[in-house]
Amino acid sequence: MPGDSYWRIKCQKCGEEKKLRVGYDIRDFKQLYLYCSKCKKNTFHIILEYVRS
Ligand SMILES: [Zn+2]
Repeated sequence: MPGDSYWRIKCQKCGEEKKLRVGYDIRDFKQLYLYCSKCKKNTFHIILEYVRS
């Protein structure tokens, strides 16, 4: 099931790990600028790995 695969990403500010489900390859991105619910603002995230389930 392709819908169950996700990227593990990590907030560089607080270290919170989260799942990101997108339909495209983000492997080449060095960082992602996304909202962090823990920091309550947009922060840079690093990509840890792609999880295929
Ligand atoms: Zn954060």
